Amino acid sequence: MIIANWKMNTTRSEAIALAQDVRSISCRPSTKIGICPPAIWIDAVSNVLKGSSVLLGMQNCIGDPFGAQTGCINAEMAKGAGCQLVILGHSERRARFSETTEMLVPAVASVLETGNIPVFCIGETLAERDSGRAIEAVVGQLKPLLNAGLDLDGLIIAYEPVWAIGAGHSATVGDIGIMHRTIRAILDRPDALVLYGGSVSPESAGTVFSSAEVSGALVGGASLNAEKFAAIVAAWEQN
Ligand code: PEP
Repeated sequence: MIIANWKMNTTRSEAIALAQDVRSISCRPSTKIGICPPAIWIDAVSNVLKGSSVLLGMQNCIGDPFGAQTGCINAEMAKGAGCQLVILGHSERRARFSETTEMLVPAVASVLETGNIPVFCIGETLAERDSGRAIEAVVGQLKPLLNAGLDLDGLIIAYEPVWAIGAGHSATVGDIGIMHRTIRAILDRPDALVLYGGSVSPESAGTVFSSAEVSGALVGGASLNAEKFAAIVAAWEQN
């Protein structure tokens, strides 16, 4: 699965044009492509994707039912808008809005309840890696989900080392493999989909995807360029 996270980018017309280009990427039925545009363009992008196999995703939601929550979107709204995916716990939200896994448990639960797929992001900071606490940090971000007793069968994990996001250099295949194995062991799900995210580009994709532990990618910057995104999808299929 190759998922595009457009973050807070694209005007309405750019979002429509980019979605049209992504829709025309040819890939095998077994390769799942997803795009997560800004929430405000979900409807416009959903119209472009009608009848295609490209999955649509929100970049965030909260776990509350309908009610007085100014500026928020819940999992049911995401479902109603035509989404199949919801990114949760992205490091940019953890850093900017102090989101923690504990806070995100209701959101994960509500996305699963709607039958959608939470793409749950975890990853260590540079300070954590440099001090030898990368695994501890990642496991710490995962544990509250397990402790909540949710059935996590439909969950996808995106391992995104914070220091690799937007940095122009990805983690090494060896480090990615160790982390993905650890994540599957903690989840006790050998078949769990674990994506890698962090500067995946046409140049780095082949190396990242050479690891048998990698189930695909969450792509930020390179997903804003349809040709680069298509090249990443092609690299996936060549592996
Ligand atoms: C991301 O933020 O999810 C991400 C992977 O970004 P980039 O590909 O730009 O590093």
